[in-house]
Amino acid sequence: MERSPIEEIKSRLDIVEVISSYLPLKKCGANYRTLCPFHSEKTPSFFVSPTRQIWHCFGCGKSGDVFKFVMEIEGIEFGDALRILAKRAGVELKPVSPEYQKLKTERQRLYEICELACKFFEKQLEGKTGKEVVKYLVERGISEESIKKWRVGWAPETKRSLVDFLSKKGYKRDEIEKAGLVIKSETHEYFDRFRGRIIFPIFDINSQVIGFGGRIFKKEQGAKYINTPNTLIYDKSKVLYGLDKAKVEIRKKNFCILVEGYTDTILAHQAGFENTVSVSGTALTQYQLAILKRYSDNLYLAFDMDIAGDFATKRGIDLAQEAGFNIKVLILPKEKDPADIISKDPKEFEKIVLNAIAILDFYFQSAFSNFDKNTLEGKREILKVLLPVIKRVENKVEQSFWVSKLAKELDTREESIWEELEKLKLEERGIGLEREEEKILQRSREEVLEERLLTLILKFPDNLNLIDENSFSFFSQKGREVLESLKIKNKELSLETKEYFDILSLRAEVEEIEKEKVIPEIKFCLREIKLIKLKKELEKASKELKKAEEEKDEKRIKALIEKISQISKNLSKL
Ligand SMILES: [Zn+2]
Repeated sequence: MERSPIEEIKSRLDIVEVISSYLPLKKCGANYRTLCPFHSEKTPSFFVSPTRQIWHCFGCGKSGDVFKFVMEIEGIEFGDALRILAKRAGVELKPVSPEYQKLKTERQRLYEICELACKFFEKQLEGKTGKEVVKYLVERGISEESIKKWRVGWAPETKRSLVDFLSKKGYKRDEIEKAGLVIKSETHEYFDRFRGRIIFPIFDINSQVIGFGGRIFKKEQGAKYINTPNTLIYDKSKVLYGLDKAKVEIRKKNFCILVEGYTDTILAHQAGFENTVSVSGTALTQYQLAILKRYSDNLYLAFDMDIAGDFATKRGIDLAQEAGFNIKVLILPKEKDPADIISKDPKEFEKIVLNAIAILDFYFQSAFSNFDKNTLEGKREILKVLLPVIKRVENKVEQSFWVSKLAKELDTREESIWEELEKLKLEERGIGLEREEEKILQRSREEVLEERLLTLILKFPDNLNLIDENSFSFFSQKGREVLESLKIKNKELSLETKEYFDILSLRAEVEEIEKEKVIPEIKFCLREIKLIKLKKELEKASKELKKAEEEKDEKRIKALIEKISQISKNLSKL
């Protein structure tokens, strides 16, 4: 029988490889572990099992297979995860197969539209104006190879050529609008959003086109850059331009260079700094920082920073500092951006990267060069800049280093700096994201106890005889099935229980417990489980008894009294 696409994909992909393209996995015995991306934690409790091809977090309780992981981490539906993984595995999803039709989601239509639009823009480079665009880009230092790699294109100066092209391919006007590629005029006419612009496609982490940035070309009017508005598949506050091409290098080099625009990013990659990404038209957001954190804790900023002005940039840096990034700053020559420097001499840029300075040093340097430390007013301004950044330093040793440096340079006592620091209240931040992400699965005490007991039995199977078959009824359906399968060899597990069994086995593998504690703990769990169950039954029977008494149902009253005394007897035996 032919395998389903899902099975085929699973057999071709290794879960460890897929997950490690998102998270840094460390080997831990037969398994891999890392910090959980789905809840915040300081010690890693997220495990991946290569033998079982599953992942599980012991902190928040989330778990699943490779599909579930991609759905959770990308925040997408099953159909989209299926397409991403099919592409990765090289499995073709046949358009005729019912699975494919079912999963053709709205998101997928938008991906298709963006991909077609990207091809359309690329094709336009072959035309007359397109060739001028290529010439212009090459003059700016972008090689033809880079143009191809980053799929740069040209949107012609016509009103509707893209809309017409996509309509002919069978996409509806409102779908094209939802992809952010057209604007509807007041007279309900549709126009291409991008006209007469150099197009930089924006990719998601899997290199799928999700939006576009358009730079003005040979025109005086209009904004220098326009971007796709937020759509179902594109949210500018969540995207880092170039991350799909940079992620491996960021992890390898263990730092990420952050620049400001498309051309800076492309040129940096071209010059061998493939660990470079940029934000498109926003200051750094918490969401972007959380993504970067999966790859490295070290962030190098390569853009013009004015500590007095540019509030948005400063705010992004504050967020990064609070998120625990080690931040360094590339000191660029005045009025120059990375593109200028790299296009002239990549070696020069390399030197700048090597000489990056710590963000606190940068703040010190700029504060002391902008204000006069010998006047009271100057001192005040310097404190205004430096106190909040020192306050944000999480490491206490490091913090006292900066406090004493500041005291020395201002020629004042450290105590007074500490006092000022104490008084300072930082702006409340981090609303939303953290809390939203911290969805820890609520489990009842019985579930926790049962899981603990079964884990210990799987780890030390000799102890199975501590659970006599009369006790099986105290377990959940899944738990009972697991116990039965251990007693009776070769018993087939249901699909749901199989998953449960895998997670328990993974738990057993990573469990560390002293041998002499095992039996007492199993006994403890079993007794607690029984206690909870019996108390519940007792409560239920008492309620029923009350009802029966009200209804004067003598027969039932008698039966219930008997039942209650039986439960009480069992309870006293525990
Ligand atoms: Zn977790």
